[in-house]
Amino acid sequence: MPIIASNFKTNHTRKSTNDFISSINEYLKSNDIKSEVYVFPTATSLNDFDTVKNLTVGTQNAYYTEKGSFTGEIGTQQLDEFGIKTILIGHSERRHILGESQEEIAKKYEFYKALGYTIIYCIGEPLEVKESGLENTLEYIYEQFVGIDTNYENLILAYEPVWAIGTGVTATNDDIKNVHTAIKEKIDKPLLYGGSVKVNNVREICEIPNVDGALIGTASWIKEDFIQIIDNTK
Ligand code: PGA
Repeated sequence: MPIIASNFKTNHTRKSTNDFISSINEYLKSNDIKSEVYVFPTATSLNDFDTVKNLTVGTQNAYYTEKGSFTGEIGTQQLDEFGIKTILIGHSERRHILGESQEEIAKKYEFYKALGYTIIYCIGEPLEVKESGLENTLEYIYEQFVGIDTNYENLILAYEPVWAIGTGVTATNDDIKNVHTAIKEKIDKPLLYGGSVKVNNVREICEIPNVDGALIGTASWIKEDFIQIIDNTK
């Protein structure tokens, strides 16, 4: 059964997040869906959501601290308030726009691993690397595992080519198959694909060998679309 995750990024308000999550919850309650569904709202919209077993709400980011002096960040003191035990780590927007280094990412990973969080760990190459071939692409991706314990039991991976994120350009089925197969040979963990997944291509993508689900941004932000995405892959 696939894992289907929605990353809100910097979208939605508290009100629309509540509405979104209760609609997804109702849909999962009243349909026989075995998929595991994750939603990652903004930190200001986190709440103590009462959800069915296969719907999990996680945080897009947090610092590796319980509390302290880290202006603009949140720690586990704030996450615990809402029972959040799932985090996205290594997203390309955090690596490339917010400047998180592999060293920082690895520290964050260790911290949340020690607390038993479910971690969705993102990897993926920029366009120039993709254009230089599969071997270089894999080499680049393996660098993103430096300092990361890939044996961690609560680890889910997400392959998200940077050039496909938010661009409308989805990787080809062959691109996805090649990278996923190579990663899976080394690391036997659930592996999601992300990067311009849409209502009308999600099923096909989830059927590619070694694809265990999808991490979706843009196409998941309208709740009816996200429900359709879950429905298309059930
Ligand atoms: P996208 O984003 O679906 O808008 O390409 C995916 C992601 O960043 O997780």
